[in-house]
Amino acid sequence: MSSFNLDGMSDLVQRVRDVLPSVRADLEDLVRIQSVWADPARRAEVHRSAEAVSKLLSEAGFGDVRIVAEGGAPAVIAHHPAPEGAPTVLLYAHHDVQPEGDPGQWHTAPFEPTERDGRLYGRGTADDKAGIATHLAAFRAHGGNPPVGVTVFVEGEEESGSPSLSRLLATHREALAADVIVIADSDNWSTDIPSLTVSLRGLADCVVEVATLDHGLHSGMWGGVVPDALSVLVRLLASLHDDDGNVAVEGLHEPVTAAADFPDYTPDRVRADTGLLDGVREIGSGSVAQRLWAKPAITVIGIDTTPIAQASNTLIARARAKVSMRVAPGGDAAAHLAALTRHLEGHAPWGAKVTVTPGDVGEPYAIAASGPVYDAARSAFREAWGHDAVDTGVGGSIPFIAEFAAAFPDAKILVTGVEDPDTQAHSINESLHLGVLERAATAEALLLARLGGSDGQPAS
Ligand SMILES: [Zn+2]
Repeated sequence: MSSFNLDGMSDLVQRVRDVLPSVRADLEDLVRIQSVWADPARRAEVHRSAEAVSKLLSEAGFGDVRIVAEGGAPAVIAHHPAPEGAPTVLLYAHHDVQPEGDPGQWHTAPFEPTERDGRLYGRGTADDKAGIATHLAAFRAHGGNPPVGVTVFVEGEEESGSPSLSRLLATHREALAADVIVIADSDNWSTDIPSLTVSLRGLADCVVEVATLDHGLHSGMWGGVVPDALSVLVRLLASLHDDDGNVAVEGLHEPVTAAADFPDYTPDRVRADTGLLDGVREIGSGSVAQRLWAKPAITVIGIDTTPIAQASNTLIARARAKVSMRVAPGGDAAAHLAALTRHLEGHAPWGAKVTVTPGDVGEPYAIAASGPVYDAARSAFREAWGHDAVDTGVGGSIPFIAEFAAAFPDAKILVTGVEDPDTQAHSINESLHLGVLERAATAEALLLARLGGSDGQPAS
């Protein structure tokens, strides 16, 4: 087992710097693979990307590398055994990516990595192929022989909601068991200030359909007497918020001491980070951090009705919308879906018929980030970034974190990231800040050293 003193630590920082060019080249090769699991036509690409990840991990020195699947996308598991008495660290990332959307809206080709102003543009450069790059860099910086056991787990369907993850965790329980789980798929406070994500909202969604007639009617003959389904749907959806934009559904969880310790956003930062148009105001009450991380939110994400091009003077008989809800930590996603369903069934005007079809649920998660493992992580972050990590929440959902926590209740979970506020993950012109990649990789390499006890800080 290697042992580091303070000089050893700065050697490690230098070794991350040394391996970064090769890691960057490997990251670019991964980005060129269009691993969009959500697109049936590109599933072969997801298999190709699993092969590529598996090859990179083998070449980095992992003795045991497998591609596995449990009825879903291929995932990669690589294992390097722990030295006697040392803990094992599971490093998670995912190799699938979001669809690129309209390529015409990208400044550069989405699957051709392109550097501009210190950022690498391309789909998956950050989310989450940079997570894979971070793990590779940390492992390579240790010369393939870190002072802890390392298991790398790279999933292939995270962007599709990880439907087979629970089966993967159950089937490969032994192979994935770890003392510490590092999930490199989140955000940083800025390109200079790292975050440890300690709070994630959950998700619940449904499709609500309203019907007022069994067939369309001439709007001149019956308009003003008989309600059309689209007007009903619009009023029903409007009932989900009060006039200030707060969620108006009864029975949702809102922690009372929410987000007291989180840093807050200024109104200018909200405007800059989101592109909120001039004159458009924020919605909801409370601090931004509280609204984003510790309160429920409801969004209408799609509507099926008559398209304008086919519109005629007809009373529409039925219309439907997809409604998506974020669930605050401490809440129960299924109970929230039930509350939303009750609201929708109870608020349709004029006796219209309402049918709610439940969709996905994912549990929220809050991490009690204290103790030796978190101390080791905070010290690694401080050294790598030259700044303390701030504890933040994430408004989005990573339901698999709750699944990991349930599968390995004794493991300490660290949610780290390679994204920053300008990353635009899931959107057009996604990019990775290359300085952030270096700092994230350095922090992870230092973390492995510290968890291995090589600077005198015990792991647990
Ligand atoms: Zn991701």
